[in-house]
Amino acid sequence: STRFAEVQMAPPIEVFAVSKAFTDSTHEKKVNLSVGAYRTDDSKPWVLPVVRKVEKMLAEDDSLNHEYFPILGLEAFSTAASKILLGDSHPAFGEGRVTSVQTLSGTGGLRVAADFLHGVLKYTSVYYSSPTWGNHRLIFQLAGFTNLCTYRYWDAEKRGLNIEGMLEDLSKAPENSVVILHACAHNPTGVDPTQDQWKRIADLIESRKLFPLFDSAYQGFASGDLDHDAWAVRYFADRGFEMMGTQSFSKNFGLYNERIGNLVLMLKDPSCIPAVRSQLTLLVRGCYSNPPCHGARIVTKVLTDPALFEEWKECIRTMSGRIKEMRKGLRERLEKLGTPGTWDHITAQIGMFSFTGMTAAQAKHLADKYHIFLLSSGRINMCGITTGNIDYVAEAIHDAVS
Ligand code: PMP
Repeated sequence: STRFAEVQMAPPIEVFAVSKAFTDSTHEKKVNLSVGAYRTDDSKPWVLPVVRKVEKMLAEDDSLNHEYFPILGLEAFSTAASKILLGDSHPAFGEGRVTSVQTLSGTGGLRVAADFLHGVLKYTSVYYSSPTWGNHRLIFQLAGFTNLCTYRYWDAEKRGLNIEGMLEDLSKAPENSVVILHACAHNPTGVDPTQDQWKRIADLIESRKLFPLFDSAYQGFASGDLDHDAWAVRYFADRGFEMMGTQSFSKNFGLYNERIGNLVLMLKDPSCIPAVRSQLTLLVRGCYSNPPCHGARIVTKVLTDPALFEEWKECIRTMSGRIKEMRKGLRERLEKLGTPGTWDHITAQIGMFSFTGMTAAQAKHLADKYHIFLLSSGRINMCGITTGNIDYVAEAIHDAVS
């Protein structure tokens, strides 16, 4: 007999299943619009030139070794990362109210945050948008949160933000609920609140005594401008909220598999920081002991060297610029074909994804007939579109929707 006979098959993770369907397809015009990674106009992954350059420098640097990193990671990395999120000169740094730790990318940052919020602060309730990135719920569930709730976000009819629904749902959240907010380029909808809407969200979070957690996975990648994409986080920081932010360098540095991210905590009282860090140290120690070094060294070098920093910003503009071009091109083609519905949301949305409004049946039609693979929610990764396949994709969408 085996102990494992009763193990139930877990549900597949859609984004990986869809990508596998793409890989398995032998159709010559197949297109992958599912997974969230940047592709060049030749459909290739892109190692940022500034990353290559720094990797060569690191390879030549005989002073580096493979000793363990500290449990909370490289401090120079965490500090530099926090500064691009909050802005170099944010007064909270001078006031000693910010602390941060290197994490296993955005996902790892969210998990350490969730472990701390549940295990140390004893919070049990979390609110995330409907829809949201497929991992938010799982991370908080595994960390022990028991009240896993959604707030309305996407208005399918308007193809935009349902701000009244969002505020109404959050107004019913119990005190100390964690509210996950996407710092910019909301995944999967590509729709962010306006500055006025962010102010209303902040007012509500303050009056209902909720806890904001910003998930920042696309800074710079969204608009091409680091400061613009950090507006909401900085607005909350300026209002003096106690909050957390998780940063991912997967997309904006193209360092997906290096697992490099940062968890930033903003407190009201600097004297609490040593105890907070000691608890974070225990959580990390019992989970993975200490983080990897390669990504941290690359990002630190780039963020702290003015010339490399400029080169990186140029890379970000290249990526976000290509995405904007593809948005424009897809919308133009659909409008020219007279595809039923309105398509201005394709260019209004920002970041890597577009929530097209297509149904699961239409997504299936695209996969079956055209070997164009997207999520059943109708979310497409704009980076999957290139000048070489944009006509094919537009005509296929036209056929699926008509
Ligand atoms: N948050 C959001 C909203 C994301 O889209 C992603 C990446 N898909 C992440 C966090 C985390 O990604 P990573 O763990 O690679 O940083």
